[in-house]
Amino acid sequence: MQMRSSIYRKGAELFGAGRITLDVETEKGVYLFVSGEHQRYQVRLMSDGTFNCTCPLGSLKAGRGVLCSHVIGAILFESQTRAR
Ligand SMILES: [Zn+2]
Repeated sequence: MQMRSSIYRKGAELFGAGRITLDVETEKGVYLFVSGEHQRYQVRLMSDGTFNCTCPLGSLKAGRGVLCSHVIGAILFESQTRAR
Protein backbone atom coordinates (compact mmCIF):
# COMPACT_ATOMS: atom_id res chain seq x y z
CA MET A 1 0.00 0.00 0.00
CA GLN A 2 2.80 2.37 0.87
CA MET A 3 4.43 1.89 -2.50
CA ARG A 4 1.20 2.21 -4.39
CA SER A 5 0.17 5.47 -2.73
CA SER A 6 3.61 6.95 -3.39
CA ILE A 7 3.16 6.25 -7.10
CA TYR A 8 -0.07 8.26 -7.10
CA ARG A 9 1.57 11.08 -5.19
CA LYS A 10 4.51 11.15 -7.57
CA GLY A 11 2.19 11.18 -10.56
CA ALA A 12 0.37 14.16 -9.11
CA GLU A 13 3.69 15.90 -8.48
CA LEU A 14 4.82 15.33 -12.07
CA PHE A 15 1.60 16.84 -13.30
CA GLY A 16 1.68 19.72 -10.81
CA ALA A 17 5.26 20.57 -11.79
CA GLY A 18 4.28 20.85 -15.44
CA ARG A 19 6.40 17.89 -16.48
CA ILE A 20 3.75 16.41 -18.73
CA THR A 21 3.52 17.60 -22.33
CA LEU A 22 1.30 16.49 -25.16
CA ASP A 23 3.13 14.96 -28.10
CA VAL A 24 0.42 13.96 -30.53
CA GLU A 25 -3.20 12.88 -30.44
CA THR A 26 -4.76 10.48 -32.91
CA GLU A 27 -8.05 8.63 -33.15
CA LYS A 28 -6.37 5.66 -31.51
CA GLY A 29 -4.97 7.46 -28.54
CA VAL A 30 -2.91 10.18 -26.98
CA TYR A 31 0.87 10.29 -26.78
CA LEU A 32 2.52 12.34 -24.08
CA PHE A 33 6.00 13.06 -22.87
CA VAL A 34 6.79 12.90 -19.19
CA SER A 35 10.02 14.39 -17.89
CA GLY A 36 11.09 12.23 -14.98
CA GLU A 37 13.91 12.94 -12.58
CA HIS A 38 16.56 11.53 -14.88
CA GLN A 39 14.99 10.86 -18.22
CA ARG A 40 12.09 11.70 -20.46
CA TYR A 41 9.57 8.94 -21.06
CA GLN A 42 6.76 8.54 -23.51
CA VAL A 43 3.32 7.52 -22.32
CA ARG A 44 0.54 6.26 -24.56
CA LEU A 45 -3.09 6.39 -23.44
CA MET A 46 -5.12 4.47 -25.97
CA SER A 47 -8.79 4.98 -26.70
CA ASP A 48 -9.49 1.31 -25.95
CA GLY A 49 -8.43 1.90 -22.35
CA THR A 50 -4.95 0.40 -22.55
CA PHE A 51 -1.80 2.35 -21.80
CA ASN A 52 1.91 1.99 -21.59
CA CYS A 53 5.04 3.86 -20.65
CA THR A 54 8.63 3.58 -21.81
CA CYS A 55 10.08 3.72 -18.28
CA PRO A 56 11.68 0.57 -16.79
CA LEU A 57 8.66 -0.25 -14.64
CA GLY A 58 6.19 0.30 -17.46
CA SER A 59 8.26 -1.75 -19.91
CA LEU A 60 8.83 -4.60 -17.50
CA LYS A 61 5.14 -4.93 -16.75
CA ALA A 62 3.97 -4.13 -20.27
CA GLY A 63 0.53 -5.49 -21.05
CA ARG A 64 -0.21 -6.29 -17.44
CA GLY A 65 -1.94 -3.04 -16.67
CA VAL A 66 0.62 -1.89 -14.14
CA LEU A 67 0.47 1.80 -13.37
CA CYS A 68 3.60 3.87 -12.98
CA SER A 69 3.76 7.48 -11.83
CA HIS A 70 4.19 8.68 -15.44
CA VAL A 71 0.92 7.08 -16.54
CA ILE A 72 -0.86 8.60 -13.55
CA GLY A 73 0.58 12.02 -14.35
CA ALA A 74 -0.50 11.62 -17.98
CA ILE A 75 -4.05 10.68 -16.96
CA LEU A 76 -4.23 13.72 -14.68
CA PHE A 77 -2.95 15.90 -17.51
CA GLU A 78 -5.56 14.50 -19.86
CA SER A 79 -8.44 14.84 -17.45
CA GLN A 80 -7.51 18.44 -16.66
CA THR A 81 -7.09 19.30 -20.33
CA ARG A 82 -10.45 17.78 -21.23
CA ALA A 83 -12.18 19.65 -18.45
CA ARG A 84 -11.27 23.03 -19.90
ZN1 LIG B 1 6.49 5.14 -16.47
